[in-house]
Amino acid sequence: MKPPAFAYHRPETVGEALDLLAELGEEAKILAGGQSLVPLMNFRLAVPAHVVDVNGLTELTLSAQRGGVLRLGALTRHRELERSPLVAGAAPLLAAAAPFIGHPQIRSMGTLGGSLSHADPSAELPGCVLALDATVVAASARGERRIPAGEFFASHFTTTLESDELLVAVEVPVPAGRVGCAFTEVAARHGDFALAGAAAVVTLDDAGVVTDARVVCAAVAPTPVRVAAAEKLLTAGLPGGLTEVETAVQDSLDPTPELKVSARYKRRTAGVLARRAVEAALADAEGRAA
Ligand SMILES: Cc1cc2nc3c(=O)[nH]c(=O)nc-3n(C[C@H](O)[C@H](O)[C@H](O)COP(=O)(O)OP(=O)(O)OC[C@H]3O[C@@H](n4cnc5c(N)ncnc54)[C@H](O)[C@@H]3O)c2cc1C
Repeated sequence: MKPPAFAYHRPETVGEALDLLAELGEEAKILAGGQSLVPLMNFRLAVPAHVVDVNGLTELTLSAQRGGVLRLGALTRHRELERSPLVAGAAPLLAAAAPFIGHPQIRSMGTLGGSLSHADPSAELPGCVLALDATVVAASARGERRIPAGEFFASHFTTTLESDELLVAVEVPVPAGRVGCAFTEVAARHGDFALAGAAAVVTLDDAGVVTDARVVCAAVAPTPVRVAAAEKLLTAGLPGGLTEVETAVQDSLDPTPELKVSARYKRRTAGVLARRAVEAALADAEGRAA
């Protein structure tokens, strides 16, 4: 199928893009990697009158680490997350999750900004940015706004971005000391969207005690979910062992069933995946020098 006719815009600067978005409002859709928007347009589930292609905005491709923060431009491709030494060193959770996204062709085109803005509940990167306590930087003709990942995802395919806002970058705190992380998921076939997924980030002190933990499940609710009960168990020293993490996650979730799997399957699988992610994150942290 082909999309209905639309007006195509290709701004050359961020300022030009923001002026266009301010002028066109709800009539416009931003085109980044096109891996979600183009299929939606072809199926006529999205029928924007205007498409604003941001691929000419070099500024959005830049990534750099300054001090304790890694700033990734919105046009960072999934493939770069997977392969970049900068990302591997400063945000290894993103590097670990990226290979689970679709297939190489999709990862070559799809972008970090597009994945977060699209906010598919089954996507990998939204859960990871939540687990990393990242900040989304949004710009509009009205100025710039910084949105904590915990306040960015509103519901299925819905974020707190306004229609005139462009996601320009994502800022990730760079781990210092003994921080370990892991991502894992189950999908029907490799490259399919996750049926359930889990990310864990843990911090150990010099004595090997967990001082901070973030456990996030994906594909079990309209937005990625932080599981506070599991995090509490970790900072309490896991009195009942890792199995408690699994149970805490299963008790905390109330998943939405989907065509392929039941809510019960998702709940049980998310618990197992969270336990595995926590175990791997702990091992990762233990392997790092104090
Ligand atoms: C066969 C197939 C399999 C896939 N499998 C997976 C998978 O397993 N996991 C997964 O996570 N994804 C998967 N995807 C989707 C892929 O990751 C997309 O890249 C991603 O969802 C959207 O990124 P994009 O850059 O392609 O965005 P686009 O498709 O260009 O845009 C998506 C949406 O975000 C908006 N948008 C894009 N960039 C910005 C911005 N900077 N600021 C504000 N709004 C913006 C657009 O207007 C649009 O509404 C798959 C896609 C396909 C076709």
